[in-house]
Amino acid sequence: MTRDHPLALDAADALAPLRQQFSIPEGLIYLDGNSLGVLPTATAARVQQVVADEWGQGLIGSWNAAGWMALPQRIGDKIAPLVGVGPGELVVADSTSVNLFKVLSAALSLQREAAPQRTIIVSERSNFPTDLYIAESLGRQHGCTLRLVDRADDIPAALGSDTAVLMLTQVNYRSGHLHDMKALSAAAHAAGALAVWDLAHSAGALPVALAADGADYAVGCGYKYLNGGPGAPAFAWVRPAHAERAWQPLAGWHGHATPFAFEPGYQPAPGINRYLCGTPPVLAMAALECGVDTLLAAQPLGGMAALRAKSLALTRLFIDLVHSRCAGQGLTFASPDDDARRGSQVCLAFDPDSAPGRAGAAYAVVQALIARRVVGDFRAGDARDGLPDILRFGVTPLYTRFVDVWDAVEQLRQVLASSEWREPRFNQRGLVT
Ligand SMILES: *Cc1c(COP(=O)(O)O)cnc(C)c1O
Repeated sequence: MTRDHPLALDAADALAPLRQQFSIPEGLIYLDGNSLGVLPTATAARVQQVVADEWGQGLIGSWNAAGWMALPQRIGDKIAPLVGVGPGELVVADSTSVNLFKVLSAALSLQREAAPQRTIIVSERSNFPTDLYIAESLGRQHGCTLRLVDRADDIPAALGSDTAVLMLTQVNYRSGHLHDMKALSAAAHAAGALAVWDLAHSAGALPVALAADGADYAVGCGYKYLNGGPGAPAFAWVRPAHAERAWQPLAGWHGHATPFAFEPGYQPAPGINRYLCGTPPVLAMAALECGVDTLLAAQPLGGMAALRAKSLALTRLFIDLVHSRCAGQGLTFASPDDDARRGSQVCLAFDPDSAPGRAGAAYAVVQALIARRVVGDFRAGDARDGLPDILRFGVTPLYTRFVDVWDAVEQLRQVLASSEWREPRFNQRGLVT
């Protein structure tokens, strides 16, 4: 295989024009869209318009005239088809952590009221830390504790008559494992538990079918595959049958049935709107909407199913090239080889047998690649669940090209073959990893 192969794949790719929606720095191979999506070209002008016209000129009148009040629902309705739910079922608000707090709290209060013996929240030890921290904190309030499994296969056996909630991130941020939402939600229900899903690494990366797959609650991130910009607002969805069964704990005025009645008592708004809390961050919402629109532009080209097919082709090419071009360099795959179980990332463990101080080896390789303008990231391992330190390469089918994969693996090959990663400058740990 030569570089002509990925170039031919790009030339034949019907989704290739979607990349023109983004401003990607010249010469940069960006494989970190699962940490922070790239900048859509429309965003700067749109935010400028909101600042100069809607805020600068329209001032307070823009809450109605420019539709600011309806942003949580309007953008929510755009995200809804990407995650398999209907209009009016999903709102944009707050951060992923805060939304998880709201939905998990609601799920726990339903369960604890109906079945006080259910005191367990089941999750993965390798789940994203903020999810585990929120669950731990809510557990303290609700008299619940976490049961963390080390391997995805162990999840069904961890569910039982003591389980209140199964809380998972659909694609594990560290291993890239894509959970079977349908099977695991069904297993949770069979045990009498509710299923809470975090879509941080799946919404916008692959088709998500919350309604059909039996999820009860879901949250998702705006700044990863939705390209909403750093710290973009997140979203929350609650199965409509549950939405009005509980209050969420952050009962703010935007979740009130009549916010502008300024009543002293709280009356939750109907449906999902009670999951709003305070005033929407309008500037951040404007940027998020531009990001979501880049995904909606894929709808006429086959939408999320087509994006998923491309994502799998990209990660498969990455895997094949690592096998054929980096053999014998000490790399092993930490993400699933099975297409059905692999999210939109490839994770590699790096274990060079002879290196002194090899604990930082994966980190150093990522730094050496960044110096060569290939941006992936490093995630620290955890001996308890057997996951090693990893090099993580996320592909974003909206803008990653097949030739980017080729070039990234070629740079990786050179970094390893030359032992460049051992240079001291790549082995100094900074604060932000
Ligand atoms: C990125 C990510 C988050 C981020 O939460 P914030 O509140 O935006 O900091 C949460 N959960 C998971 C699983 C993530 O991958």
